[in-house]
Amino acid sequence: MKGQCLCGSIEVEASDQTDLSVCHCTTCRRWAGGPMFAVHCGADVRFSGGTPSRYQSSDWAERGFCSHCGTHLFYCLLPTGEYVLPVGLFQEQDFSFASQIFIEEKPGYYDFSNQVKTLTGQQVFEQFAPK
Ligand SMILES: [Zn+2]
Ligand SMILES: [Zn+2]
Repeated sequence: MKGQCLCGSIEVEASDQTDLSVCHCTTCRRWAGGPMFAVHCGADVRFSGGTPSRYQSSDWAERGFCSHCGTHLFYCLLPTGEYVLPVGLFQEQDFSFASQIFIEEKPGYYDFSNQVKTLTGQQVFEQFAPK
């Protein structure tokens, strides 16, 4: 799976990807201007052409972007090095919408009609907590 930023200076390649998940959390919405549509791509993600700028958005994660055009390139979980990539980077790929997370932080001014799995932030932390 190959994608690129808006200006084309950074290309990204990922070999694994999950179904599409949407995050309604306040951080994603501030970052993305709306809910973040994302796919989990594991740790095997390669960037080429340029180096993404990184911003540490929490104790456990960094977010990356192109410093030239500002395109959001990734959310990276620091303990595992796993990447979650904005689905919009990949225009040639079809995805299946699987889940919505941090549903309790979704504002009232929009609702998706897709019938998908819905998780609270607490349920997400439980799902990804080390066993
Ligand atoms: Zn760019
Ligand atoms: Zn989020």
